[in-house]
Amino acid sequence: MDSIKKVRCQVCEKAFVLDVQQQKFVAPLVAKGQGFIMVECPRCGSSTQYVKAQETAEVSRHVASYRCPITQCAGWVDSINEQTLPFWGCGECGSVWYEEKNLQKDIADVVILHPYRARSYKQLNGSWVPGDLKSEPANYEELVEKEPPDPLDELVRG
Ligand SMILES: [Zn+2]
Ligand SMILES: [Zn+2]
Repeated sequence: MDSIKKVRCQVCEKAFVLDVQQQKFVAPLVAKGQGFIMVECPRCGSSTQYVKAQETAEVSRHVASYRCPITQCAGWVDSINEQTLPFWGCGECGSVWYEEKNLQKDIADVVILHPYRARSYKQLNGSWVPGDLKSEPANYEELVEKEPPDPLDELVRG
């Protein structure tokens, strides 16, 4: 299901991450095997054909993806390597980070706020990197759900 989140707009050719509503729309169609699905590109507003991310994206996901550091969100942040404008995006809550240092800051903040979240990451050369899934609490998603809402609910995190 996670592999369905990344889309490349056929009009402006920018990659984007499906928001929660779009995922709710796309997921059942993908499950049914529908090959042609239109979604709106948040960058340029055009309708573009949803094309399932290549299989390799799924394989590498757990290597490259961060747990989303937004409170109440148990989603994944993927690095979207656009040559012109790389960014990180969470398909679950729709948050985006245009600079890695801001993603790092949100991770640093959330692990202080909710210490069990530190188990989703590792420290490497002074930076947070994705940790071992097995070290997360078994009820991770339940714990995240119970978190108080983030007072800062901006989708663009900087
Ligand atoms: Zn577009
Ligand atoms: Zn999120």
